[in-house]
Amino acid sequence: MSAELHQEISACQICADHLPHGPRPVVQFSSTARLLIIGQAPGTKVHASGIPWDDDSGDRLREWLGVDKTTFYNPDKIALMPMGFCYPGKAQGGDAPPRKECAPRWHDRVLGTLPKDRLTLLVGTYAQEYYLPHTKKMSMTARVQGWRDYSPEIIPLPHPAWRSAIWMKKNPWFTSEVLPDLRRRVFDTMRS
Ligand code: SF4
Repeated sequence: MSAELHQEISACQICADHLPHGPRPVVQFSSTARLLIIGQAPGTKVHASGIPWDDDSGDRLREWLGVDKTTFYNPDKIALMPMGFCYPGKAQGGDAPPRKECAPRWHDRVLGTLPKDRLTLLVGTYAQEYYLPHTKKMSMTARVQGWRDYSPEIIPLPHPAWRSAIWMKKNPWFTSEVLPDLRRRVFDTMRS
């Protein structure tokens, strides 16, 4: 089932007219992946390689999770499903937001292939606002600081872009409290 879905996603052209570099969906999943990471959208480097989180943000995310690249890129263990599967191009001040067509079109079908007893990491504001709509008025920092409120199924995280280093300095509780709990739960999820 997931092989067919992978093929369907690869052929997706829904927002081709709006993608400056054309569709190239970047997503990883299988029916046994109990850790799900919902990120933002590929950047230029990921668009070029076709490998999710193949950039500095990915290195930082793996460090947060305490997993190496071999584990991270094992679809039997970890599903990587961004809010928009294709690189959306540039906007003022950085990359454009994930294409809004993508999550409603594909997410439920990908989620339908995953185990029900999974841990979901919502990485960044786009994923958090979509999957935790009741928190829309909260800041990303407030959501992450209240990470226990979404336990045990969900952990909200900041996007691990370079700016997150500055954010982490201002919010030392993330390193001292959230990261140890995150690593423990990621380890437990993948072990069971
Ligand atoms: S961003 Fe999503 S909906 Fe748009 S073309 Fe890519 S896979 Fe299709």
